[in-house]
Amino acid sequence: MSDLPPFTNSLSPVCPGLFYGVTAADGLLLRIRIPGGQLRREQGRGLVALAEHLGVETLQITNRANIQLRGLKEIPRPEVLERLQALGLAAQNPAVDVLRNVMVSPLAGCDPAELVNFAPWLRELEFFWANHPGLAQLPAKFSIGLDGGGLCSIGQRSATVAEHRYNEIQLTALAVDPEIAPGLETGIYLHLMFGIEKKLIPTGVLVSPEQGLPLIKSLIWAYLDYCQAPDRPPKVRLREIMADWGLETFLNQARRYLDFPLTRHPKIPSLPTHPGQQHLGIHPQAEPEQVYIGIGLPQGQLTKDQLRGLVGLASEFGSGDLRLTPWHSVLIVNTPSLQIPAVIEQLSQFNLSPFPENPQGIVACAGKPGCAAAQTPTQADAQVLGGYLESLSLTTPVNIHLTACPKACAQPSPAEITLLGIGPDIYRLYLGDLRDDQAPVMAQQPLAELLPLIAATLGPKSGPAHSSRL
Ligand code: SF4
Repeated sequence: MSDLPPFTNSLSPVCPGLFYGVTAADGLLLRIRIPGGQLRREQGRGLVALAEHLGVETLQITNRANIQLRGLKEIPRPEVLERLQALGLAAQNPAVDVLRNVMVSPLAGCDPAELVNFAPWLRELEFFWANHPGLAQLPAKFSIGLDGGGLCSIGQRSATVAEHRYNEIQLTALAVDPEIAPGLETGIYLHLMFGIEKKLIPTGVLVSPEQGLPLIKSLIWAYLDYCQAPDRPPKVRLREIMADWGLETFLNQARRYLDFPLTRHPKIPSLPTHPGQQHLGIHPQAEPEQVYIGIGLPQGQLTKDQLRGLVGLASEFGSGDLRLTPWHSVLIVNTPSLQIPAVIEQLSQFNLSPFPENPQGIVACAGKPGCAAAQTPTQADAQVLGGYLESLSLTTPVNIHLTACPKACAQPSPAEITLLGIGPDIYRLYLGDLRDDQAPVMAQQPLAELLPLIAATLGPKSGPAHSSRL
């Protein structure tokens, strides 16, 4: 066990972490990175114990499938942090803890359409961070995404745009034949993309699955080379490297660390899309007679009793593991299909269900009182809005993004409707995403007065209540 540095408390707008708290208006905010959103049974129990110890009633799954605890009145004691390290919920070296922010398809290893199972890579990357303390110089927002090509994907393959997620370095698995990439044999390859400014930029670089990890490491060294050059500002982002070096220079720098060529292919096929919402409801897995069960959580919030119940259910009816998704839901995997009725019955005891009666896609940032920059109480308003939408009996999900300032940090992808907090309890309603210059502004009013206008806008989506049962 490493000696822990003193826990620090920051008032500055740093990315929240575990070994340093960020002070929000409602108390201290901690964020625990869960690589790939994969939460083992003992880790789930550890989180319940942590919440109890800290007097926290509700945990929140973030839009990167991490866990957030807020409103803490005191900092965690060193022995608490050491316990989290022992459970694998924190890095042994606190300086690289933020790098555990790796996103993989939540169904990795169980997805019936998956081409590559990236779950084993999480452990490899954990060793990599641990053995290279110099990587602490990477920015806290440095991110890696691994899309195995299955039905429940990260990246931009979901037909539901609100589910798109961007990572600075992303590998996506796809099937390739020689017509597409002359010189390559038919097979599964990984396509390198860079997430810059809310877009995934294809590079045309294809590598074999065995070459994927060395490629990622080479890109990280190239990134670090740029950061460490004289006169660089601290915590450079990939977009700045691209603006300065350009793609070819960055790739050339990465090539210095590789013993295989990096070839760019001009004709990469478009990636297959999937229907979206695959993380909700009950679906077959790759293994016969096994299903996964996706449970939606409004605003990603779950009480510690619900988490305790989910861990117990996953242990009794599944592999014991939970998968946290970046879309405000949690999956119980490896459940025998014969057990479905029992799981549904027990979920209802915790007020949870895999069948949302009314599909909604409401996303809200921390808002007031959690964030000092906030104009409006977005979390509370999201509940009001959710209740109102329930009364409309929506037939298809609608994505509404409530953001309490223009930073819009809760939803990286374009929203169908945006409510931007612009003054005490006043929202500006956009028909579209606030970052889209063309999105019309419909009104500026308190939420209660905007609700009828939202209902009128949603007209065609309303109808008989919908249930996405298997
Ligand atoms: S979007 Fe919300 S959480 Fe993010 S900085 Fe603005 S007010 Fe704070």
